[in-house]
Amino acid sequence: MGEEKFLLGNVDDGITNTEVRDEFKLCNVYAKDKCRDCFARFYCSGGCAANSYNFHGSILDAYDIGCEMQKKRIECAIMIKAALAE
Ligand code: SF4
Repeated sequence: MGEEKFLLGNVDDGITNTEVRDEFKLCNVYAKDKCRDCFARFYCSGGCAANSYNFHGSILDAYDIGCEMQKKRIECAIMIKAALAE
């Protein structure tokens, strides 16, 4: 929001910026190098595109602090589930 670069179009004309639409269409966990070997990839799906853009200038990167928090949350969830199963 507030980034003119990402303006896709408007209600009257529909999508006018197909280049950005296609960039986002191809932005997923399989397209991100950092996510390729990450154990959390199917839980987080590649993280927040806005954070990636704001910290690295590309939606195809990942926000590193967010990654660490996401992985820690998943580790804790698995640990709790395992403890409850005992
Ligand atoms: S935690 Fe980070 S590296 Fe792992 S899948 Fe999510 S965005 Fe990608």
